[in-house]
Amino acid sequence: MSDMVEVHVLKAEIEEAKRKLGEDLLILAHHYQRDEIVELADFRGDSLELSRRAADSDARWIVFCGVRFMAETAAILARPGQRVLIPREDAGCFLAHSVDPVQLRDAWERLSQVLEVERELLPVAYVNTSAEVKAFVGARGGACCTSSSAGKVLAWALERSPRVFFLPDQHLGRNTAAALGIPEKEIALWDPHHPPKDLSRFKKARLILWRGACNVHVRFLPQDVARVRKEHPGVKVVVHPECRPEVAALADEVGSTAHIIRTVENSPPGSGWAVGTEQRLVARLAAENPDKKVFSLGDPPPYCSYMSLTRLADLTEMLTGLLSGGERGLVEVPEEVRAGARSALDRMWEAIRGGG
Ligand code: SF4
Repeated sequence: MSDMVEVHVLKAEIEEAKRKLGEDLLILAHHYQRDEIVELADFRGDSLELSRRAADSDARWIVFCGVRFMAETAAILARPGQRVLIPREDAGCFLAHSVDPVQLRDAWERLSQVLEVERELLPVAYVNTSAEVKAFVGARGGACCTSSSAGKVLAWALERSPRVFFLPDQHLGRNTAAALGIPEKEIALWDPHHPPKDLSRFKKARLILWRGACNVHVRFLPQDVARVRKEHPGVKVVVHPECRPEVAALADEVGSTAHIIRTVENSPPGSGWAVGTEQRLVARLAAENPDKKVFSLGDPPPYCSYMSLTRLADLTEMLTGLLSGGERGLVEVPEEVRAGARSALDRMWEAIRGGG
């Protein structure tokens, strides 16, 4: 079978399964997924937007085409009886893998040698973390954040604690701190692979950053900004806050995926945008804004390899399995983990609403 015929057959099988499963099925696709997956999904969005869509729906099966931490978040927020499935169980996230509960417990214990951690240190976890890490944070009174809510959540946390432990994305942490006016001298970096012997600097810091990063967004460099400005006079640069602070400092706009999409869509026809985020989103943005010149800030543009794992064949296999009574790719979060992680997510919404 040629590739074209195969794609056609797989799409037809998926459409047929969707018809048969009706309202019992909801397919969600993250912005970084392949186009053919996005086309077949009921909704596309960022991770939290999709999890909320899932929890608002009456669907019995929520098929999350994204990476594991996102499907876990959907499972944490799901209503009783809803089942969250992921077409590729090996779809991880480089950033989420940069912190695990063992390293986090170790860091917490070490820091307790110089700080009264329960009183003086509040953890904030980016949603790009496992359910266990979210539960650790939730159990210590901390909150989750997204790239769009990081500023509000960090401000919320600093109102409640003299110190915040922000994890795992050091760049999101530093970019958010810069936007809040937190000076560099009040920030300390925690390297989980080389925990420091001298902990005195953590006693002085207001913000402790976990040394993690997204391997897609760190690919954008300051010289990319210089290059696009030279090659495309008048171009504007918009980057995601997971990019390096040196890149964010040179950009015209820094913001979440939703902010990037809004910024490009609301710009006047004829504008040019070099975008510093995952390439599938950039390519789709370019296709959907033909009156503007939209292209990647990177050369070559970076793709998320974990997001690329999900293919039509995986989705077909999952849906045909459901039709014949088989459930593969079920994402389950144990109740004790779910409760802690849920409390961290709930505090994020409290912080966003400005509640106390
Ligand atoms: S782009 Fe980066 S943060 Fe997003 S899923 Fe891929 S590795 Fe994780």
